Amino acid sequence: MSFSALSHLECSRTGERYDADAVQGVSQAGVPLLARYDTELAGRTLTREALTTRPATLWRYHEMLPVRDPASIVSLGEGMTPLLPLPRYGARIGVPGLLMKDEGLIPTGSFKARGAAVGVSRAAELGVKGVAMPTNGNAGAAWAVYAARAGLRCLIAMPVAAPAITRTECVAAGAELWLVDGLIGDAGRLINAAVRERGGYQEVSTLKEPYRLEGKKTMGYELVEQLGWQVPDVILYPTGGGVGLIGIHKALREMQELGWIGDRLPRLVAVQATGCAPIVRAYEQGADVSEPFPDAATVAFGITVPKALGDFLVLRAVRETGGTAIAVTDEATLAEQRRLAADEGAFICPEGAACLAAARDLRDTGFIGASDRVVVLNTGTGLKYPETIPVEVPTLPVDGRIQNVR
Ligand SMILES: *Cc1c(COP(=O)(O)O)cnc(C)c1O
Repeated sequence: MSFSALSHLECSRTGERYDADAVQGVSQAGVPLLARYDTELAGRTLTREALTTRPATLWRYHEMLPVRDPASIVSLGEGMTPLLPLPRYGARIGVPGLLMKDEGLIPTGSFKARGAAVGVSRAAELGVKGVAMPTNGNAGAAWAVYAARAGLRCLIAMPVAAPAITRTECVAAGAELWLVDGLIGDAGRLINAAVRERGGYQEVSTLKEPYRLEGKKTMGYELVEQLGWQVPDVILYPTGGGVGLIGIHKALREMQELGWIGDRLPRLVAVQATGCAPIVRAYEQGADVSEPFPDAATVAFGITVPKALGDFLVLRAVRETGGTAIAVTDEATLAEQRRLAADEGAFICPEGAACLAAARDLRDTGFIGASDRVVVLNTGTGLKYPETIPVEVPTLPVDGRIQNVR
């Protein structure tokens, strides 16, 4: 019996194999490494029945995760977030079968906790002493808190424009924090230089180490398990670096190998903002990779990624599943964020709201049918983005005269 059935790492372009029990970055070809498992071995203990008695965290799928020793797990209770029906809002946009996987209810309030939990656990297991990364905020906050729990050093660089609370989270967790007057790519160059100059840190930028993806893929396992081992018709995902979408696609393929689901896969939709839509542009042009998006800017800050290392994997996942890539305006995103909160009581992040705007548009074009079961990923809580909802109400006088208040 093995706790993890991890067998090796594989270059996502050439298929070349790499040792999974050494610290690895990207492949020789400079592209992400993907973790591969012995699914036959995993399937001996990881069964749909066995899952019914396991704890409600992402570690329930441990055979298909990279951590070999249960004692290496660094956890704050992440995973098994609710899959909420959205009946009132769904009826509003003509998709009564609309569901939302709500990642706002996870440590640090964003799904970045999944990648951090698995990435930090595995890094510590392999003897890494420090981690360093550029971030649009949420990933840095998540890695900072998990690194603290694991006793690892942590160096984070983020744009000054990233959500302010994510700075606070990094500082609270004792990470070293750099603010950069630029975008995530600029932060990445600083981190890259720091890691080379300082030593003692592993660079854990998006898809530059193989295990963050493994954490994020668990969203795919969970949502299928929560649907009673049925796959939905469509999944919409707010795409920055694309790790969640690549991960969900990987999870679906693995579940096919495990014999848990059939041939039919959900159509995967990469949602971006019109202010930063490199992958949508590449999709529309029929290209296999994206070009850096000029002057990138959107209120959905977590998806402000002008050029993603894993763009070709996102495009592949979208095309292989008959999905699509679509961009929505900030105006539409903010309007849906408010409608959803008022309709369903869920205050979600703008990245998640972008998926709602996309669902509405795709229903209008007919890509989504009236009877489709559609899952949107809400990747974080609205509480991390308080400035997205203007509050214009009067302050009342204290003398109790309320009749003058409109
Ligand atoms: C990071 C982030 C995203 C994008 O995730 P990727 O895996 O980089 O595509 C979406 N939403 C939120 C809230 C994020 O923090």
